Amino acid sequence: MASSRTVIIAGAGIGGLTAALAIARHGFGVTVFDQAQRLEEIGAGIQLSPNASRILIALGLGEQLRRHVVAPEELRVMNARTARVLARAPLGAVAEKRYGAPYWVIHRGDLQAVLIDAVRVHPDIVLNLGARVEDFALNEDGVTVFARSAQHLLEDRGVALIGADGLWSSLRRRLGHRREPRFARRTAWRALAPADALMPELRAPAVNLWFGTRAHLVHYPVRGGSLVNVVAIVRDDWREPGWSAPGERAEILARYRAPMWSAVPRALLAAPEHWQKWALYDRPPLARWGKGAVTLLGDAAHPMLPYLAQGAAMAIEDAAVLAQRLADARDDAARRNGIVYQLGGPGAFLRTLALTAIGGERLLARYDWLYGWRPA
Ligand SMILES: Cc1cc2nc3c(=O)[nH]c(=O)nc-3n(C[C@H](O)[C@H](O)[C@H](O)COP(=O)(O)OP(=O)(O)OC[C@H]3O[C@@H](n4cnc5c(N)ncnc54)[C@H](O)[C@@H]3O)c2cc1C
Repeated sequence: MASSRTVIIAGAGIGGLTAALAIARHGFGVTVFDQAQRLEEIGAGIQLSPNASRILIALGLGEQLRRHVVAPEELRVMNARTARVLARAPLGAVAEKRYGAPYWVIHRGDLQAVLIDAVRVHPDIVLNLGARVEDFALNEDGVTVFARSAQHLLEDRGVALIGADGLWSSLRRRLGHRREPRFARRTAWRALAPADALMPELRAPAVNLWFGTRAHLVHYPVRGGSLVNVVAIVRDDWREPGWSAPGERAEILARYRAPMWSAVPRALLAAPEHWQKWALYDRPPLARWGKGAVTLLGDAAHPMLPYLAQGAAMAIEDAAVLAQRLADARDDAARRNGIVYQLGGPGAFLRTLALTAIGGERLLARYDWLYGWRPA
């Protein structure tokens, strides 16, 4: 049974894990549930523009992330048929100077692994895998959350519940927003190509965007440049939910035919053996989505089509904003300490027990939100 200072998060995707770290930094305990038994390395490339990298760096993850990211030097936009470069925008040092944080691209699995590692060693975060959040009940001082694992029904209490349960969020439905995601009649195909099998222009540190008729193509290096992430977006009526349906290379090559698609992008599409695809959905924006002590973040709140490469970045921004709002709303820490410092009788006894049990390291970690603050 969690305390009234515990925040419960449903979903250990990019948004839920970032929220756990950001909220714990403000002195809360956090319990995260994810329905998956294991958080496997699913997905491919994700773009972390400066609005997102700034937050992850402020959470102390910069060093770990730098081992995996690529910092593209530019964004290049090309015509699919002629291969002519239509536009170039500097990223790299120019973007970092302009925005005060780097523009990165990363494999989703690497980002999730860095976040999970940080969550696992955090003294105030508990990660429960294989537990699906099914329902909640609002009560006077917060919320009771009901989750189901293979063997048990779990019940947990917290001061707030955050639904970070993705595009098909059941908590969103439970909050009364019953409309299903809106199918965009597009499918995104993704693959990872070994960089050393590609011509140099395809493995350069750049985000590349090819404009074609009724299809476009995005690619950039990930995993320190050893792989190239390829995403091909086509019009399609295939609409199965999920992120990882298998796709046939021959089918995607047929959609990117010559002469509408020139030799260089076709060489890239021919390189990977294995393709996966997912149907694109979004939802019309809501003005409000929370209720009392329960709210949503990331794709559960406002799923986006991938044309701005901001799905993960918005979930990360949500996490930071929500953590700040929770901290603002929390009891005043100084006032609380004023009471605790001067307890007598049984209160003083309990205080001594708690201080002894918690130990020096964890005691200091409770002040991370305070001593770790830096100007943005
Ligand atoms: C498996 C997977 C692969 C992806 N691959 C890509 C990709 O290659 N490229 C790309 O651009 N985007 C990809 N995405 C989407 C991208 O991660 C998100 O759009 C973005 O990061 C926003 O993340 P989020 O945290 O809001 O949601 P998500 O990343 O979707 O995470 C939601 C999490 O909630 C969990 N969950 C769902 N329901 C419950 C419940 N009731 N109780 C407990 N847990 C629950 C899910 O298991 C999941 O871990 C993928 C998402 C997933 C889940």
